Amino acid sequence: MRIAVCVKQIPDTTKVEIDPQTRTLRREGVESILNPLDVFAVEQALRFRQEYGGEITALTMGPPQAETMLRGVLAFGVDHALLVCGREFAGSDTWATSLALARTLQSRGPWDIILCGKQAIDGDTAHVGPELAAHLGLPQVTFVKDVLEITPSAAVVERLTDAGSEVLSTPLPAVLTVLKALNEPRWPNLKDLYRARFASIEIIGAGELDLNAGQVGLEGSPTRVVDMFSPESGRKGKMFDENFQEGLDQLLRHLDSAGMLDARPGQASAGRGE
Ligand code: FAD
Repeated sequence: MRIAVCVKQIPDTTKVEIDPQTRTLRREGVESILNPLDVFAVEQALRFRQEYGGEITALTMGPPQAETMLRGVLAFGVDHALLVCGREFAGSDTWATSLALARTLQSRGPWDIILCGKQAIDGDTAHVGPELAAHLGLPQVTFVKDVLEITPSAAVVERLTDAGSEVLSTPLPAVLTVLKALNEPRWPNLKDLYRARFASIEIIGAGELDLNAGQVGLEGSPTRVVDMFSPESGRKGKMFDENFQEGLDQLLRHLDSAGMLDARPGQASAGRGE
């Protein structure tokens, strides 16, 4: 079985500043990590390989520093890693990102299963998996929470929906985006940690993928960031005494004076000691 798993490098903080000129994130000097939801896609790839044999390739589109993140993925026991990298890709939206990933996969295919995380916790769109499937012309199942059966030509999976869950059968190859409910990720072992440190990572540029400036980067991105800002909170917090009983009394008096307590007799001070 040939398995591809898409992984994204994200900033290890929620406090990334926004460049007011370009309206992109200022990532310089910010530590990066593997998107936590992608760990479940990596684990599922390892389980497929354990059961059906074959090999796993992890790929990411990102800056040169993403190599460190890919080494972390190799340390879980993944066989190969590809880094799609170059200035041409800067400013890519989800459509351009998924196009670059799709071309990479086409150039290194065929694949039996392509796995993605449910979403990246910085961008949060959950677009890339479905768009990847669209670019590749493959079926997709999103929000997969269980894998019930795999045959050489099909997969039966359970996916989460707003109303509960549904069981779907999809022909393979297919793109699956997975939830953290799917599995419990393992820890890397020493042998793989050592191998990952020295493993070669293949770097792929836009030229090799036959992509021109009009297809990736800002120019190839149909969406535009019109404005970007951190929401300002107008709320002022109110501190009550740190002594529990005193603080509770103050809180009740405050709610009472604001007319927020039930006015029925015996109800307003019911919290005391109960
Ligand atoms: P999701 O769609 O939520 O991710 C779902 C899954 O897809 C992930 O779990 C992972 O498995 C896979 N995946 C997502 N991204 C990647 C990836 N890069 N490589 C491999 N697998 C992946 N970002 C920048 O860093 N610099 C920019 O200059 C920039 N410019 C942008 C300009 C515009 C107009 C827009 C709309 C976005 C821009 N972005 C930029 C954000 C960038 O497009 C997204 O971070 C990226 O496309 C992934 O989207 P997401 O984070 O919502 O991932």
